[in-house]
Amino acid sequence: MDLSNDTPATHSLQSSTTISSDLPRVAIEEDDPAPVKRQRRRSTSHLKLVPETLELRESIKVAAERYAESLDKSRPFSRDELERHGREFLESIDQPEGFLGFAMVMLGNFFWKRQFLATPFHRRMLLLPHCLKHAEGCPAEYDQFGLDCEKCGACSIADYKVRAEQLGYKVLVAEGSPIVLRIIVEGYVDGILGVACLNVLEKAIDKVLIAGVPSYAIPLHSGDCKNTTLDEAWVWDVLEKYEPLPEPETTSYVPLMRAAGRLFDEHFDRLIPRLRSKTAEQARSPLGLTEDVAYDWLANGGKRFRPFITLAAYDAATGGRFVSAGPGAQNVEFSDSVGRVAMAIEAFHKASLVHDDIQDDDLFRYGRETLHRQHGLGPAINIGDYLIGMGYRLINAARDEFGPDITCDILDSMSTAHIRLCEGQGAEMAWNDDPDWNFTPLDALQIYALKTSPAFEAALDAGFRMAGKGELYAELVPQFCRQLGVGFQILNDLKDWQGDNDNKLVAGQDALALRPTVLLALAMQGSTEEVRRELREIYESRGDEGRRLHRARRLFEQAGVFTKAEALIDKSRARAEALADEVECETVRQLLYFLVDTVLAPEIEEPEMQPEDHGLMLSLPVVG
Ligand code: SF4
Repeated sequence: MDLSNDTPATHSLQSSTTISSDLPRVAIEEDDPAPVKRQRRRSTSHLKLVPETLELRESIKVAAERYAESLDKSRPFSRDELERHGREFLESIDQPEGFLGFAMVMLGNFFWKRQFLATPFHRRMLLLPHCLKHAEGCPAEYDQFGLDCEKCGACSIADYKVRAEQLGYKVLVAEGSPIVLRIIVEGYVDGILGVACLNVLEKAIDKVLIAGVPSYAIPLHSGDCKNTTLDEAWVWDVLEKYEPLPEPETTSYVPLMRAAGRLFDEHFDRLIPRLRSKTAEQARSPLGLTEDVAYDWLANGGKRFRPFITLAAYDAATGGRFVSAGPGAQNVEFSDSVGRVAMAIEAFHKASLVHDDIQDDDLFRYGRETLHRQHGLGPAINIGDYLIGMGYRLINAARDEFGPDITCDILDSMSTAHIRLCEGQGAEMAWNDDPDWNFTPLDALQIYALKTSPAFEAALDAGFRMAGKGELYAELVPQFCRQLGVGFQILNDLKDWQGDNDNKLVAGQDALALRPTVLLALAMQGSTEEVRRELREIYESRGDEGRRLHRARRLFEQAGVFTKAEALIDKSRARAEALADEVECETVRQLLYFLVDTVLAPEIEEPEMQPEDHGLMLSLPVVG
């Protein structure tokens, strides 16, 4: 998702009428993970019953409020913790497991309620589902933000919308959308009052709550998507209340995400002033063109996750002042040197993507044509190189504040990450040129550890080093980031088969590009000689991509590849959490847990979409 500040969506936001005021063990020969303190996560997708009577719903709600009073509110729930509390809570009130999703929503509500009510009206968003509309006669049309209600009065949407707008809320009529958290991360709102079915709310739990966004949710009585109903009094119960708190109760990473975003927005020109492309005319000149395109590529597109990691690591290792300031904290600003080092991480990352897109001949990145498709091969290689140079210059600029030793250590860390990335990329290209069909899952994972982990490692290490804690975490960081990067890459491989459209827009590109993925290695390892031969033919042949993809998917499914890959992600997650468990510093440990929860978030089964759903689902705009 493009999070650039200067996009049509952002402009419309300001004027739109719609938005107003375990699994089987895989034979990988690696050490078994140390004991894990955190519980394994499980899907609750089959546990989403809503109690049928208002009386029962009310009694569960009241009991949930009492239960939540005893909860530690100093930091956001993880999904595992919320599920554990949900189960304990249901047991304590003698209600069935089928209400788990409902119970988790209720507990989440009362965890956050005081902080939601302390959010000023003009800093809140009311999120309504379009399925509340009058199914037959609704005259409203859809735009990029969802349903543009005309307030005809035929359904309750108009009532909520009118009153919420009067109070100063921003109102969105859509069942969650990528724009929801974009609105939050870009700083437009600090809290969400949401009405949605449990399917949508389950996704929101993984995305919104763990980031530290004060939220209050009212579950629809069903997930049927048409003429749905809800307990309307629950909406009015919080819609019109504002109860300030003397100080924030719960930590939040949202202000740090916003700070990372501002580096590439309001601070961008000051932190890296243009030299050769200050005017439009200069930008079109041969001498100014490279700088102009490189700056545009750096400033636009991407979710600023790696710079966020650097800022968050620095903050966590220096006491966690900003993460502790609460979800609505303003004035979260870092020194220019810290900001420039965080920007350098993004410059290196963007450079690697430019070169990776060339090597894979990918068509799209950040929803637009890849750089080499726009400008040609030579200029794109050159711009990637330029971004690498820019990254080193940005780090060097931190020398005055942090001194030569720390600056050189960061440079060393970056150069090591760079070399390892190139080794991983080189190994993949070598396999691609001359495939070794005896390659194993372990071979694939080694490539992943080289290709994907170094960027996380460099980002985390830079933050710790600037905080003067580089040596303290020197052993932990590479081990932790290896698990993070490997798990993240396997998740990406799975998404490729699911048609993840965020970056590449064309599903199955990786699968057909003869990449030595762990999925292919698992399929080869778990299949008969006959199937291995067929897989090889599929991958090495050309033409009829649809048939090849279909056949490969069938063979992968027969070999249990997708299940085994999910087990590997679970394993990476467990190992990363075990490493985090050993960290003494609370703020650093919590950051590591947060990284595991966001980078390795399990894919939750999508509810079956109805024709009117428009595919709008919530997505945390940080990893990418
Ligand atoms: S009030 Fe709005 S959403 Fe409801 S039927 Fe009328 S136009 Fe449609």
